[in-house]
Amino acid sequence: MSTRYDLAIVGSGAAGISAAINAKLRNKNIIVFGSKDLSAKLMKAPIIDNYLGLPEITGKQLKDKFINHATAMGIEVIPEKINNVYAMGDYFALIANENNYEAVSVIIATGVEFSKTLPGEFEYLGQGVSYCATCDASFFKGKVVTVIGYNQESIDEANFISEIVEKTYFIPMFKGDYALNPNIEMVQGTPVSIKGTDKVELLELKDREITTDGVFILRDSVSPEQLVPGLEMEGKHIKVTRNMETNVAGLYAAGDISGKPYQYMKAAGEGQVATLNAVSFIDDKR
Ligand code: FAD
Repeated sequence: MSTRYDLAIVGSGAAGISAAINAKLRNKNIIVFGSKDLSAKLMKAPIIDNYLGLPEITGKQLKDKFINHATAMGIEVIPEKINNVYAMGDYFALIANENNYEAVSVIIATGVEFSKTLPGEFEYLGQGVSYCATCDASFFKGKVVTVIGYNQESIDEANFISEIVEKTYFIPMFKGDYALNPNIEMVQGTPVSIKGTDKVELLELKDREITTDGVFILRDSVSPEQLVPGLEMEGKHIKVTRNMETNVAGLYAAGDISGKPYQYMKAAGEGQVATLNAVSFIDDKR
């Protein structure tokens, strides 16, 4: 018979690790799934200026601090991808490629992933490619930036960027009102690939090229409905209460997956809130 954990945490970014640390502090028997490097986004973040008490820290340094903190508390990240989470009544079954796990409560902290990526996109993430205007626009002062916008919100982000950088191109990937600042040049076209040497230098479109220092790709995230059948969504995010509860009793969500803003401190805070409520749920089951 497999071990039934008190709490399973799916995801090892700021939300998942914060959730794990708080669960350990409450003496819960936990299991955390994710990657040994915790989060690709942490690995790619060049400089993080808004993490409380840790100014000008790189993503890698913050990742090391998270790992040291977790390791000191006896938390190990299991490098397995969870494909499905099923509510079984008294417990949850978590299905990985080769193993199955059981837990009384589950926190989904998977971050947001995007469906189709452009060739070069992941290669240059943090080296000119960004998903977050608020986080990264300041790195492009005096430079040329291209925004590929998939939704109405990307207009606001492009306007924000254009107030900081030298030149902004905007490529709309949706139909809507393009209330762009007058200094933004709108380009109609289909992005094909991002090119450069060690940093972004060029965005290739079907019928032209744009010489650019940065490419902001502002998409909607992929739905996690497939991960948990019956999970209620709000747009592309998991619908949660202020207690980070989902519509499935005992199942919580935290971090980017539960909505914007996509920020480390928001993710860590939500991981804590999710755990504290999961702990009450687990204790009530006893
Ligand atoms: P993530 O960090 O995305 O972690 C989730 C992890 O869960 C994944 O990496 C993966 O390992 C794991 N996972 C996913 N699905 C599964 C599954 N099915 N099974 C098992 N494991 C799974 N924010 C700021 O506040 N300040 C900044 O300066 C800043 N700079 C950034 C720079 C870059 C280049 C990027 C990309 C992002 C930046 N951000 C910044 C945003 C920040 O990275 C995110 O808000 C944060 O990582 C969200 O944390 P999370 O725990 O929700 O998810």
